[in-house]
Amino acid sequence: MQNDADALVIGGGPAGSASAILLARAGWRVLLVEQHEFPRQKVCGECISAGSLALLDALGIGGEFHRVAGPELTRVGWIGSRNTIEAEFPRCNDGTYAYGRALGRDVLDALLLARARALGVTVLQPARVHRVRGGPGNFLCDIVGPGRERRQTCGVHAVIDAHGSWESGPRIEADGGPQTLARAPRRDSDLFAFKSRYRGSGLAGGLLPVLAFAGGYGGLVVAEDGLTTVACCIRRDALRACRAALPGGTAAEAVWQHLRRSCPELREQIDRGRIDGSWLSVGPIRPGIRVAERVDLFRVGNAAGETHPLIGEGITMALQSAFLLARHLSGHAAATLDRGRTEVLTRRYAAAWRSRFAPRLRFAKAYAHAAMRPAVALPLQALLESWPSLLTRAARWAGKSARSRP
Ligand SMILES: Cc1cc2nc3c(=O)[nH]c(=O)nc-3n(C[C@H](O)[C@H](O)[C@H](O)COP(=O)(O)OP(=O)(O)OC[C@H]3O[C@@H](n4cnc5c(N)ncnc54)[C@H](O)[C@@H]3O)c2cc1C
Repeated sequence: MQNDADALVIGGGPAGSASAILLARAGWRVLLVEQHEFPRQKVCGECISAGSLALLDALGIGGEFHRVAGPELTRVGWIGSRNTIEAEFPRCNDGTYAYGRALGRDVLDALLLARARALGVTVLQPARVHRVRGGPGNFLCDIVGPGRERRQTCGVHAVIDAHGSWESGPRIEADGGPQTLARAPRRDSDLFAFKSRYRGSGLAGGLLPVLAFAGGYGGLVVAEDGLTTVACCIRRDALRACRAALPGGTAAEAVWQHLRRSCPELREQIDRGRIDGSWLSVGPIRPGIRVAERVDLFRVGNAAGETHPLIGEGITMALQSAFLLARHLSGHAAATLDRGRTEVLTRRYAAAWRSRFAPRLRFAKAYAHAAMRPAVALPLQALLESWPSLLTRAARWAGKSARSRP
């Protein structure tokens, strides 16, 4: 039977669009399904590391990115309970770009998806992949939309899961048997993420400070058009305590009060501006590695694995994993991807993914836990006051000055 497309890409975030672009360039017939209409805002700190900017060039949106993105990020910082500590951002020395920049996800994701469309990717949007059945070589994908009434089933050789990690994603039935994803139990350590944008804040363009507060962490940055993005994560137990301190307030209002109390310098900077839109929230988010959980389909971006957002490397990893996958698939015609070959390729890709990203996840976890725990954050802050250059090192360890080769 002739399939409708070679590959289905589930999700039009950076991982999905980048994968679609690269596969379309390799001659594959690609169908991408994204559940939301674009442009849309997204909970994210919106910083893109220097090393990844060459990937945007390779994907064909570098020119537009550089035209609209915020200023180069040349300073890194720490805002805790005392003064802001600043240090130089580590330069990326072996690539075209020395420093990263920030761009709103409404703009970035729309640029990438438009590029995929221009390269011949069939985009269904807003539409949702509801269920995936069958297996390699002959997947059947049930799609709802565009439009509430429209339901269709598409046959594809391969499935690329780029649905992120903050929603349950489609139901995946392998070998005809349903695979029910076990719901993770609620834990006090679950993280909830919040984001808002401010116009006219006092934050210096080019500075990327980490926010450290009891039960959470965050960051802020000047992105395009002078807009300042503030994003943070907070543990479930800390969120509960914030809400108890603000009866009748929303979760976002309670978190904002907590941030303002905990980080006085943030308050000074943000109070000069006015909010642009409203606070967005998402969660629980659970950083971790999932890339090898299935051998019948390929996972990229957050679907494959997620770092603590403190290091702001998720978009970079989404793009890098798309390139890594494309390299593993190059030279393979989609029609030859039967079960055996797909299993070999998923295992090889998962091994490469781990060796590339697992160290970054480990460092991010340690850094995040240090920022969230006052017993560690306070002595760390004292240390940083004496040796601000430790911030430069931390950014380097987080991968922020590493070059990504297309
Ligand atoms: C507070 C916070 C701050 C962050 N700051 C940064 C930062 O500064 N820099 C950075 O690089 N990263 C940052 N990140 C991480 C970054 O946002 C993610 O890693 C990145 O969005 C992952 O991209 P993705 O394409 O894998 O997934 P996503 O961007 O989540 O995209 C997935 C897409 O799939 C769609 N989808 C889901 N299910 C379906 C379905 N069934 N059918 C169709 N479509 C579907 C969704 O609508 C979505 O558009 C931050 C994260 C948080 C929480």
